Amino acid sequence: MDLELTFLGAAGTVTGSRHLLSDGEASVMLDCGMFQGLKTLRQRNWAPFPVDPAEIDAIVLSHAHLDHSGYLPRLVRDGFKGNVYASGATIDLCDILLADSAHLQESDADFANRHGLSKHRPALPLYTAADARRAMMRFKSMDFAVPYEVAPGVHARISRAGHILGASVVEIDWRGTRIVFSGDLGRYGDPLLPDPEPIRQADYLLLESTYGDRRHEPLDAMEQLADIIGRTAQRGGSVIIPAFAVGRAQLLLWYLHMLKKHNRLPAGLPIYLDSPMSVNAVEVYRRHRDLMRPDIRECDEAYGVAHYVRDAEESKKLDTTPMPKVIISASGMATGGRVLHHLKRYAPDPRSTILFSGYQAAGTRGAKMLHGADTIKIHGEYVPVRAELSNLSMLSAHADSDEILRWLRGFKKAPRATFLVHGEPEAADTLRLRIKDELGWSCRVVEHLESVRL
Ligand SMILES: [Zn+2]
Repeated sequence: MDLELTFLGAAGTVTGSRHLLSDGEASVMLDCGMFQGLKTLRQRNWAPFPVDPAEIDAIVLSHAHLDHSGYLPRLVRDGFKGNVYASGATIDLCDILLADSAHLQESDADFANRHGLSKHRPALPLYTAADARRAMMRFKSMDFAVPYEVAPGVHARISRAGHILGASVVEIDWRGTRIVFSGDLGRYGDPLLPDPEPIRQADYLLLESTYGDRRHEPLDAMEQLADIIGRTAQRGGSVIIPAFAVGRAQLLLWYLHMLKKHNRLPAGLPIYLDSPMSVNAVEVYRRHRDLMRPDIRECDEAYGVAHYVRDAEESKKLDTTPMPKVIISASGMATGGRVLHHLKRYAPDPRSTILFSGYQAAGTRGAKMLHGADTIKIHGEYVPVRAELSNLSMLSAHADSDEILRWLRGFKKAPRATFLVHGEPEAADTLRLRIKDELGWSCRVVEHLESVRL
C-alpha cells in the first residue's frame, strides 16, 4: 500500500490536531489533540476513533497544548499501546496539562450528574486522572536534532518551533519520503523563546494557519504594562491579570522583571503568581532553561519577581492585603480558576484594572468584559464591572502570516505539496493565496477525515 496521510482533526478548525501517516506496514500519528471550544467540535471527542488505536505504532507530539496532546489519555484507554515521542519539556508540561484536563473532565461529569444536566446517566468523563497517568507512562523523550526510529523504517526528528517551551517542528523520514509538520509556529523575536528554526527540505509539508489572515500589532507589551500598572497604582488600585498558565504567565513574569530592573514599577509593589498550575509550569521552565533565549541567571531572576501562591486559603487572603498590587492568576479568559475570586473582589473597584493578556474567545467572561458588559456572572452572582479594562492583545504565541511566510522562505525549494491545517477556513484560505501568489507553491486547505496519497 502507498503511504497515506489522513487528517483526523485540526482541519477547518484550530483544535483536535491529529494526522495519521500509514502505509499498511507502519502507522504513525502526528499529535493527539482534543477538540475544544464549540459543542459541535467537542462532540467529536466522543465519536469512535476513526482507526483502531491498537494499530497505531507510535505518536509524535509537536507540543503540550491540549489541542495537540489532550486526547492521549483516551486513546491509551481505548487500546493504543505504542510509544509517544516528544521533547523532554513537552513531556513535563503534558504531565501538568493532562492531569488538569482529567480533573476538569471528572468534575464536569460529576457536576452534570449532581444537577441532572446530561442525557447520559451517569455522565462519564472523557478520561480520568488514572487514564492520564497511564498515558504519561507511554512517553519517550526526544532530544532536538536527533533522529529516532519510531516505527520500522520510520524516523522522526524535532527542531525548535518557538511557541511554548518544548514546542517542536516534526520531520518524518518515511523510507525516503520526508514529511514536515510545523506544529504551532512561534513568533520571531520572542523575549523568552528562540525563533522557529528554519527547515530546508520537505517532500510534503503540513502547515498551521491559525493567524494566516492576520498581522500582529507592532505594539510594545512592556510599555503598555508599565503604563497600566503605573496609573492603577497611582489611583491606589490593584492590577488583576488573567493569564494562561503555561507560557503566558511566564512571559508576564519576564516583562515584570525587566520593568522592575529598570525601575519602571512603583517601589515595593507586591506581585503575586496565584495559580498552582502556573507555579508548576514555572518549575518546568526552570528545569529546561537551556531552551530559553535569556541566560540562566536572568531567567532565575525573572522567576523570582513574584510571590508564588499555591495554597487556596492564601489565595483568598490576597483579596484583603493592601493595595496597590499585581495578581497574575488563571484562567486566561476568566472562564474558571482562582482569578474568579479576584474578579469578584476587584471588578467592582473603579481604582483597579483588569488586564487581560491576549486573545479572548467569543462567549468567555473575558470577551464580555472587554465588550463593555456592566456586570458579569460569577458563581451565580452578578458582579458589577467598574474597574478599568484593558488587554495586552499583542501577546500571542503564534506566528502571524508574515512570520509564517518568513519561515517558509527558509525552504530551499517548494515541497511537492503543502497542506494547510490548524486554521479557521478564512485564515487558512487567506494563507493559501499568499503562499500561492508570493512563493508559487502548490498548496491547499485540507478537510476533516480527508486522506491523501503521498
Ligand atoms: Zn499550541
